[in-house]
Amino acid sequence: MTEEVKATCRVCGRAANATEFVLDPYFKKMACPMCIRDRNTKVKLEKDKVQAEESAEAIRNEEDLIIIEEDKEVEQAYEEKQEQVKEEMENAVKAQKLDNSRVKYICQKCKYEFVYNFDKGTPNNCPYCSEKVQNFVAE
Ligand SMILES: [Zn+2]
Ligand SMILES: [Zn+2]
Repeated sequence: MTEEVKATCRVCGRAANATEFVLDPYFKKMACPMCIRDRNTKVKLEKDKVQAEESAEAIRNEEDLIIIEEDKEVEQAYEEKQEQVKEEMENAVKAQKLDNSRVKYICQKCKYEFVYNFDKGTPNNCPYCSEKVQNFVAE
């Protein structure tokens, strides 16, 4: 039975069989098997942690991106709606408000001007050409 040569680990100070020491690139010196094992665990944990953080970061960025995209879509839809409303207002038949129940309406067909009564909802048609009274904006 040959006696094992013991050596002291320069990393952890533990004594281990000299033959089991390896030059470790992480510690940059000879390390005992215990250190190698600890180091492997430690390095793996650090790597896992970094990876977990990186993927969390990636997910966050992706979520931000999606939110930004959604914001843009909502904003665009809103702007389009506003534009549409504006256009409708501009294209709408306008009637000059006379009082709370009457407006001066101009027939879209013959340009005949007459008073439309809100309360009665009359006339339904232009007294001159019988063109139907359209929806209008009173202003
Ligand atoms: Zn050691
Ligand atoms: Zn008319």
